[in-house]
Amino acid sequence: LLKAVGVRKSYGHTEVLGGIDLEVHKGQVVCLLGPSGAGKSTFLRCVNHLETIDAGQVWVDGEPIGFRLRNGKLYELKEREVARQRRDIGMVFQRFNLFGHRTALQNVVEGPVRVLGLDPEEARVQALDLLDRVGLAHRADAYPAQLSGGQQQRVAIARSLAMKPKLMLFDEPTSALDPELVGEVLAVMGTLAAEGMTMVVVTHEMGFAAEAADEVVFMADGTVVETGPPGEILSSPKHERTKQFLARVL
Ligand code: ATP
Ligand code: MG
Repeated sequence: LLKAVGVRKSYGHTEVLGGIDLEVHKGQVVCLLGPSGAGKSTFLRCVNHLETIDAGQVWVDGEPIGFRLRNGKLYELKEREVARQRRDIGMVFQRFNLFGHRTALQNVVEGPVRVLGLDPEEARVQALDLLDRVGLAHRADAYPAQLSGGQQQRVAIARSLAMKPKLMLFDEPTSALDPELVGEVLAVMGTLAAEGMTMVVVTHEMGFAAEAADEVVFMADGTVVETGPPGEILSSPKHERTKQFLARVL
């Protein structure tokens, strides 16, 4: 469903991604691990074209992101068309950027109505169902400031899901949370994974990676150092760089 081939990205003279290859099949969960500055966030932003890439390609469900394939040639897409591609890709960030002046329910209703043109009443029913799935039906009318960080993050997940994405990207979704709130967000993500959502998750939560990931990818210095099932990478990594990292976080 997601295929990245030789993705390169530099800022000025600094190369941040030195050719990333990654494949994620439908329904798979891939956890991206790696030290600060490895390029994990940059890579996620390249996947949904929030960053343009210098070389390589990203394919989501057979479509080249940022391009249209016609007669074997790639043509660059206009921003409006990229926005359409981006709809299929949900993204949840470390900071739960909800609209502060809108209730939880309004936050979830907004996208489907405004972007997908869904009937408002239909969107409301769908949003209530999604809030229920993340355990927040009873807080539908609360404003973000009235919710805990964990609750806000669960609303952010519901809001992403309302757009019916094919792929969900998570960038350290729990690292801004108080420790006691991490579990409730990971539980929602675990359920989503079990239901078959295709997910790429940047996380330092090794327990989540061990339980939910089909594949763990260890990145450092803008490259993939090694990749494999969590049982292998987390307990018997082959590369020195991975060993050092795990020794620090486990
Ligand atoms: P962390 O675990 O701290 O979130 P990361 O693996 O997500 O790290 P990135 O945020 O992708 O790392 O950053 C990779 C490198 O790219 C860093 O050295 C960072 O300073 C640099 N970088 C990221 N964004 C920009 C930018 N807009 N302009 C210049 N350099 C950038
Ligand atoms: Mg990051």
